[in-house]
Amino acid sequence: MECQYVFSTSKALSISPSPYRIFVLLELVRSAWKEIRPIVTGKFGKYCKDIEFLFLFELLDNTVPVGLDIYSTLFRSGDWKSYIEGVFRAWCIFLWFERRNYNKAPLVFLSDIFYWNQKNHPILNVLKDHLVKFTDYPVENMHSIIRWQSSSTDTSQQLSKIAKVINARRDINVFEDTFVVQKKSIYADKDNMRLLTKKAQVFLLETFSKIYQRLGQSSIVKGPGKKITYKLASLDIIVDKKQMLLGFSSEHLLSSDKCDQCHRLLCDGTGKSSVVIACGHGYHESCFTLLNKKCYHCENFLKLGIKNNVSSLLSRLSKLDKSKSKSKSKPNLQEIIEADEDSPQNQRIENEDDILEVFRKNKQALPKAEQAYSIALEKFLNANVTII
Ligand SMILES: [Zn+2]
Ligand SMILES: [Zn+2]
Repeated sequence: MECQYVFSTSKALSISPSPYRIFVLLELVRSAWKEIRPIVTGKFGKYCKDIEFLFLFELLDNTVPVGLDIYSTLFRSGDWKSYIEGVFRAWCIFLWFERRNYNKAPLVFLSDIFYWNQKNHPILNVLKDHLVKFTDYPVENMHSIIRWQSSSTDTSQQLSKIAKVINARRDINVFEDTFVVQKKSIYADKDNMRLLTKKAQVFLLETFSKIYQRLGQSSIVKGPGKKITYKLASLDIIVDKKQMLLGFSSEHLLSSDKCDQCHRLLCDGTGKSSVVIACGHGYHESCFTLLNKKCYHCENFLKLGIKNNVSSLLSRLSKLDKSKSKSKSKPNLQEIIEADEDSPQNQRIENEDDILEVFRKNKQALPKAEQAYSIALEKFLNANVTII
């Protein structure tokens, strides 16, 4: 939906869009959210526990920034402390998203760090001082290009040949220098970005207006065999607990308007101040202070996640050792594919030129988007809850 609105196209985003397209959309959403966040939180209030609001808020405030920043900003800037925190936050997301392998790999890395820290091992200082050098990006990128330019039926000799040609072509640019016309990225144009960001702001404000109108109407759907899903009223979709916030995966299902510690109303008219924290659980300030400003429901879920994934990894590793000694069986291709869940990074970008060419010719596009923003803002600020 965002793609259709922002790029003014009737064409829906493909099922497997190019990583570049995803990146552009996420960047636009992030910049738009930065601008309108105070307006949105001002309207919904600091203890809104509406399921749909929490769903979108988490996505914009946590998942999207973690996904965008962890490598390109935190890792590449060499900011060690923030990078480690980013790895832990990414692991939390993988845990409640129930991702295979990714819910274990960051734990292996963090475990190494804590071990070296405990032993005061010199490698830790090397890592801290030269973080950017410890990247497997060139290898990953090379793998992606080889995957992109080869087929699943290629033999090992053919793959080796393709890899050598790709490697040689990295240094021989005479053909490209002569015949390929270098174009400035369409997104390098500041006006284009301003226009697209403005449109993303309009899109988000309209989405939040609809959520506000249907406040309290999203519901928990209990399916067969204890399975719980959530029906989001204005987006009109049903989502699983893993698509919600961390708190929805904990043992304590968060209540819609009560304190998750004392179970009394968060807003009980006594003027008690309350807070809804990032996991979605909400507490009276006084209850939260008693808990040492920690959400024990979610802390328990994370601790259990660490325990279960570590023991699962250890048991897998021990089985691997046994099967190796029993027979020299070939690695299972399906496992290799599943382990490598990254999409190719060098896919062709389609249509962007055409879409932005229309904007470029239309000098009225930016003023029109600004006008649409003012209307959307007024509508959002005046939105009322629809009573059904
Ligand atoms: Zn309380
Ligand atoms: Zn919590």
